[in-house]
Amino acid sequence: MEIPVAGETLVMEGKMRDRFQELETRALKDLEAVRDAAGLERFRVTYLGKKGLVTSLMRQIGSLPADKRPEAGRQANLLKKKLTERFEALRRTLSLEAEKGTRRIDVTLPGRRPELGHIHPITQTLEEVCDIFQRMGFRVVKGPNIELDYYNFEALNIPKDHPARDMQDTFYISDTLLLRTHTSPMQVRVMESQQPPVSIIAPGKVYRRDSDVSHTPMFHQVEGLLVDKGVSFSHLKGTLTSFVHQMFGKETGVRFRPSFFPFTEPSAEVDIQCVLCRGTGCRTCGQTGWLEILGSGMVDPAVYGFVDYDPEVYTGFAFGMGIERIAMLKYGIDDIQMFYRNEMRFLRQF
Ligand SMILES: [Zn+2]
Repeated sequence: MEIPVAGETLVMEGKMRDRFQELETRALKDLEAVRDAAGLERFRVTYLGKKGLVTSLMRQIGSLPADKRPEAGRQANLLKKKLTERFEALRRTLSLEAEKGTRRIDVTLPGRRPELGHIHPITQTLEEVCDIFQRMGFRVVKGPNIELDYYNFEALNIPKDHPARDMQDTFYISDTLLLRTHTSPMQVRVMESQQPPVSIIAPGKVYRRDSDVSHTPMFHQVEGLLVDKGVSFSHLKGTLTSFVHQMFGKETGVRFRPSFFPFTEPSAEVDIQCVLCRGTGCRTCGQTGWLEILGSGMVDPAVYGFVDYDPEVYTGFAFGMGIERIAMLKYGIDDIQMFYRNEMRFLRQF
């Protein structure tokens, strides 16, 4: 490193501004080459010290014509400030590095246990739901998140002009492709590929344009379908009641309310006794004592038309539920967004 002698007189020719520029370039270049405390001190004396180059340049301002002095003074101060800042920053870095170099490893200290990850509460809930249905003989199937309009709507008895399409705000990719708004397309895909008996559950991600304390644009559903000869509404009731008892406890009350879905007839929404107030009424259940957890119904014969099943021979039921909602109720969480903020304090509780 070439360090000029402190107080070296600068070339006097040229404008003051050029000299500031020249001095700055030279100082920064020198600073870049500094590797240790001694070099740092040499730099300080050369540029920032009482007899340093910056100070010396500042003194020369006095010899300028009166109208040039304020601007020259401003530039000199700027330069001094900039060099001082860089100098201080480098001093901090060097002292940190020096500290590291002297640190010794204390082999007698206890080790730090590596932190193990664990399964996300949504995945846990999803697996639990699937386990319950698998024990009842349902097979798990998975399908595409990017779905054809045909499977998501058309073949589920939801034609283009059907008002039910307004119920779901859809992310369209093109006229015929979309992000599936529910896991129900899997009903059709499975029935297309096999003859009854069919008993499947289809877990997965679904997408809707919606975001607030009870909605996220992406969430999880589990769809269920059972088709065979002689399947009745009481099979549906028995299966779902058994599910609720396994998921929320045997003492949990269940009720079926008439509802409407385009691809089931008749349809029913399933409520469970409020898990927080046990039916006496609270804020979560809107003082009703009940919480809606899933939609269900007997497969509409119109749907069999799309998959070549004979509705005179086969009947079946279908159901679908939101996993986030189940997890919220099971763990008493009132904001769905908590699942996706990745806050460790929240996730560690599961
Ligand atoms: Zn309640």
